[in-house]
Amino acid sequence: MSSDLAGKRALVTGSTSGLGLAMATALAGAGADVMLNGLGEAAAIEATRAGLEKKTGRRILFDGADMTRPKEIAAMVERTETEFGGLDILVNNAGIQFTAKVEDFPPERWDAILAINLTAVFHGCRAAVPGMKERGWGRIVNTASAHGLVASVEKSAYVAAKHGVVGLTKVVALETAEHGITCNSICPGWVRTAIVEQQIEARAKAKGVPIEEEARVLVGEKSPSRTFVTPEQIAALCLFLCSDAASQITGAAMTMDGGWTAQ
Ligand code: NAD
Repeated sequence: MSSDLAGKRALVTGSTSGLGLAMATALAGAGADVMLNGLGEAAAIEATRAGLEKKTGRRILFDGADMTRPKEIAAMVERTETEFGGLDILVNNAGIQFTAKVEDFPPERWDAILAINLTAVFHGCRAAVPGMKERGWGRIVNTASAHGLVASVEKSAYVAAKHGVVGLTKVVALETAEHGITCNSICPGWVRTAIVEQQIEARAKAKGVPIEEEARVLVGEKSPSRTFVTPEQIAALCLFLCSDAASQITGAAMTMDGGWTAQ
């Protein structure tokens, strides 16, 4: 049993910040070459890429594919296979959020959330599975959410997309089970990344309370532990799912949510 990923080739979507960057860092730390992806300022992305390469001694590349564009996703998978000689680990992680009641939800925000949070996962799996089947080994980790299992108000698109990710994960797991490939979703509770910071700031502003006070209220509303999950804890779960020890975990929705979905 080993979690040593030396020689493995990984692609992590949405890895210019937050959970994706933490997972990419952990995978490179365990010995994998990593293709980064995501939005952001070119100089900042290059600093992240070069920093990770220096820190881990692995090959770290960046591809700016837009997750709303299927052709760019397929081209990024193909480029990863060409540059690294194959793709063994695919982490479909890019995601966005928007909150409003269903009757006020702008249709273009619905379309964008479904495209990035769900449809991009399909396009990534579609492009990566044939190579994994050919080599007889693969790991697909999809970042779903506690909102892939339960709902909250004002998150119709996000909850629909994340429930979709949990379902899609199960189908890909069944179709790849005999090929040495696993496909699982990770369901984090609150992690204090950019996507959540925006929600805390908006709520604090609306109530006229300090940001830290609202952060405590937000996490306490959902998580019995009243504690944020850290990106490093999510990255450790991702690393475990990529290890030999996890070869019989497939089709699972792995929660890490301080007890949120146990209620
Ligand atoms: P984040 O905003 O830091 O990261 C989102 C990443 O997605 C960034 O790298 C961003 O550039 C990328 N991205 C957004 N739109 C893109 C596009 N069109 N094309 C390519 N990349 C794009 O937030 P995060 O919390 O790290 O989110 C990562 C994932 O974790 C998301 O799928 C999110 O839904 C999920 N998640 C987060 C939490 C949380 O509490 N933070 C909880 C559960 C699930």
